[in-house]
Amino acid sequence: MNGYFPYPYRPCQEAMVAFIRNAAILGRNAVLESGTGTGKTAVSLAGALSAAAGTGRKVVYLTRTKSQHRQVAIECRAISANIPVVSAAVQGRGTSTCPLMREDRDLQDGSPEELSKLCSELKKGDGSAGGCPYYQAITAESVESCISFIRSSGPDPEEFRDYCQALGVCPYEAVKKVLPYADVVSASYAFMFDPRIRSRFLGWMGVSEKDIIIIVDEAHNLPSYLRESETAKFTRHALDLALSEARRSGDPDVGHGLHASDVINAVSDILEEAQKEYLRRENDLIPPGYMEETLMTVLGMNSLGLKEVLAGLYDAGSRIAEERKSRRKLPRSHLYTLARFLLYWMECTDGSHVFLVSGGDNPALEAYCLDPSDAATPLRICRSSISMSGTLAPLQDYCKDMGLWEADTEEFPSPFNPDNRRTLYVADVSTKYAELNSDDGTYERLRRYIIDIVNSVKVSTAVFFPSYAVMQRFLEDGLAEALGRTVFVEEPGIGNTELMDRVMAFRCTAGSVLICVCGGRISEGLDFPGKEMELAVLVGIPFGRPSARQDALISYCQARFADGWGMAVRAPAVRKMRQSIGRLIRSENDRGIAVILDRRACTLDGLEAELTTDPVSEVKAFFGVQE
Ligand code: SF4
Repeated sequence: MNGYFPYPYRPCQEAMVAFIRNAAILGRNAVLESGTGTGKTAVSLAGALSAAAGTGRKVVYLTRTKSQHRQVAIECRAISANIPVVSAAVQGRGTSTCPLMREDRDLQDGSPEELSKLCSELKKGDGSAGGCPYYQAITAESVESCISFIRSSGPDPEEFRDYCQALGVCPYEAVKKVLPYADVVSASYAFMFDPRIRSRFLGWMGVSEKDIIIIVDEAHNLPSYLRESETAKFTRHALDLALSEARRSGDPDVGHGLHASDVINAVSDILEEAQKEYLRRENDLIPPGYMEETLMTVLGMNSLGLKEVLAGLYDAGSRIAEERKSRRKLPRSHLYTLARFLLYWMECTDGSHVFLVSGGDNPALEAYCLDPSDAATPLRICRSSISMSGTLAPLQDYCKDMGLWEADTEEFPSPFNPDNRRTLYVADVSTKYAELNSDDGTYERLRRYIIDIVNSVKVSTAVFFPSYAVMQRFLEDGLAEALGRTVFVEEPGIGNTELMDRVMAFRCTAGSVLICVCGGRISEGLDFPGKEMELAVLVGIPFGRPSARQDALISYCQARFADGWGMAVRAPAVRKMRQSIGRLIRSENDRGIAVILDRRACTLDGLEAELTTDPVSEVKAFFGVQE
């Protein structure tokens, strides 16, 4: 019995705690998939905390979104009934952690870097001279009060914020002061994987990497998160803003007889030329060195001169940002951002990135990261890391992507009755582009399947499409009206508040239909327990639209791991489908059935789908509806 696990064990949980604990004690990396109902948060905390006990080490629980921090606080409170555990949640500056931002709408647009700079400036002043009053209110007494509150109450982030609000202190600064006393710190991925934030984060906690056990929640998101965070992009719109800023600020001198506008115009011309020369589809590759060589030719200088000019642009942008900061404005400069982008682009020479040009309403130049393993370094240098998700298999793909070559891996099945869920597929349709657009009746058969399956039973149903484009085509063809039920749609670009309103309405309207996309915000991260969702129809396989980005990733995975298609396309598609199907079963008594409308389902490991020629009868039989 592990005293850190506060509940009676369900099947698998004791083995999971032991697996995690052993890895953490031995200082190894563990990678595990654990099915619904295995209680990943409680299990991982029990394993990691029992390994850290008495060593002075801390457990850092990383999540992609803030919502999971509350669950960590709840589990730590439950553990504290047996063994005292202090937990704290660190969140970036936002309206919930920075009271000044709540009061000043202009600040709400700021990037983390801009907010950090402005905050540093405001912390220098005293309350009467325009400094931050919430920072000035942080005294030895208020810090002591926060520490006692965290120790005695184990608050979740909202409760801690309310407590700070009552004291009149800044929650963001206050939580930094309590971190040295916390056994468990929950934070978003950026706190460990952004090197600029990581060093400060470790300093606040008062530990080195060697003294922390990292738990990565929903780890299937981490490779794509790291690829995106290591990708740099500059758009036509941002170039226009940079040019306006240059004009407003007297077109600063950037060295070598050039002005900021000369660099901006040169990059604008490169974007235009690259579109003409290389763009044949949504995005396309441009040759490595194209940007630097063209810039050197156009500006008439060698590589050293170019670096000096970019340093001049960087300095000019920094001065503009500083001047804004002194007026209590966001320290924003588009010249600074352009200089950072170009310098980053020129550093990407080790083959870890490819260079792209994209078209559309707002064309862009992009240095796209293929290899996220460098950014995953914290997993390899900390005391131990635990990566877990309900949809992480094949585990070796994750290990290869993250550079965890000798990790301990294990798959733990869901303890729930497997008969409560069925997954079927049909073999006479597909959303493969050529078939969907052929005149062999594929589109009509798909449409008929969706309508007949959804209308066969009056249970709450989700229809998952492989992309917004395919979803729009069916909607424009009257799918929602043909269903004859209340329908809610996850439209492209819908705001979070509006989306949550629709989800709530779907949950409250028994027997309604939710139309959404596989891999979207609904299919990952939202729970629909009990009768909130009992039937899922997956229209096609979400392989992703062919693009230069996808081709580059396939080539990279093929060259590096000899499995281009599998790692870059097949495995992500299967994970998205498993996440969608996973919405059906969230607790022990949930029952649900999923139907995949695509013959290619039989080629995908991990779906465990059974072939059917009559999905309507199968769905009716599952819910006990008479034919
Ligand atoms: Fe905002 Fe706190 Fe910084 Fe003040 S000290 S600006 S309240 S984050």
